[in-house]
Amino acid sequence: MPFISLQSFLPVLSPQPLRICHSFRQPTNISPQCSLGTSNQTSSSHLPTTSIPTFSPTPITPITFRGRTIHVKRDDLLQFAGITGSKLRKFYSLLSKTTFENADFLISYGGAQSNAMLSLAHLCKYHNVPFLYVTRPVPSNLRNSPGNFNRALHAGMHHIQIQNSQFRTFFTDLPPNQIQPLIQSFLQTHAPSFSEKSSLFIPQGGAWPGAEQGIEILAQEIRVQIQQLRHNHALVNKLPIIFLPCGTGTTAFYLQKHLEHIAKVVAVPVSGDERYLVKQMRWLQSSVTHDPSSMKTSPFPDILRPRIRASFADVRPDKFRIWQEMSRSTHDEFQFDLIYAPKAWEEVMMALEEGILGNGGQDIMYYHTGGVEGNVSMLGQFFFLSFSSLPLK
Ligand SMILES: *Cc1c(COP(=O)(O)O)cnc(C)c1O
Repeated sequence: MPFISLQSFLPVLSPQPLRICHSFRQPTNISPQCSLGTSNQTSSSHLPTTSIPTFSPTPITPITFRGRTIHVKRDDLLQFAGITGSKLRKFYSLLSKTTFENADFLISYGGAQSNAMLSLAHLCKYHNVPFLYVTRPVPSNLRNSPGNFNRALHAGMHHIQIQNSQFRTFFTDLPPNQIQPLIQSFLQTHAPSFSEKSSLFIPQGGAWPGAEQGIEILAQEIRVQIQQLRHNHALVNKLPIIFLPCGTGTTAFYLQKHLEHIAKVVAVPVSGDERYLVKQMRWLQSSVTHDPSSMKTSPFPDILRPRIRASFADVRPDKFRIWQEMSRSTHDEFQFDLIYAPKAWEEVMMALEEGILGNGGQDIMYYHTGGVEGNVSMLGQFFFLSFSSLPLK
């Protein structure tokens, strides 16, 4: 079975409702109980949207790949104030003018080249608030090499670098809602000038319930576009499959939640394996089901169990080849990113060719998460690979 059905992993709901912090806003008095989490903050549809800019829907472009039509939802075209692609969906709710009414700065943590980091840096620049970002030790040349880290520093990011062991203690070993109450003590040690101020904490990769609002809008766009495509006979009358590359799985989780009975979302693990995705999605799930009125469990995406066991952002000839093939199939009208997209396409094409996926004649759609702006630094590595693999010996 190449699929993991998430339903089978669902924990038995305990009679004691889970207490999960929803706002991730630092309470003035730190309480491990996450006093700011109230139930109506969990439902994205209840959040005020008036002060947030609206964007027109991104198009769906059909391309032919290996004889098959793939409908590409073009969020690579989405950008606002330097926040791009699916990250603009995930951080959409943070564009609200009210975001920093109760917080003086934003703090997050994760990888030193992360797309989420760069988007958060731009978000903070947009709101004119400080952005603190915590990483493990980074190589000293990273600061000046072209890439997300360098660009985030230029956008004003304050970088805090801590030892691996500390990073693990504070961030990796704990679920995001348990990190929140520790932030104050972390700041006292690592950024004392911020320790008296109140923070807005965003978990790694933007994996938090606030991501739902923007992804719900994405789902609404797709819903309308599917209807239009059906009307024009460009789609058959079956539940289409939408596949997408996943980091934390946040986008896939909320997309499926809001496309129930409209599409089947297929999540392809890219940075992390299927077990990590399951864990993340279960956490997102538990952070909404604590509210007894919304006990109904949302549908989960299918998770494709990857065949290619390769590290994140790896530089493999096969990956570069499929990326070139993908670029040709768009007639160079648009591009795909070199980290997430090729891995997702490799896995999904194998599954389609073997009939594991789409054997009911469903239409196939791809959610283009963006990230193309990172290609400059990745292309360098792929060119290096193509030269170093020439038979020069
Ligand atoms: C962040 C990112 C993803 C992963 O999104 P998740 O919601 O964390 O799964 C995929 N593609 C691109 C280009 C990204 O920047």
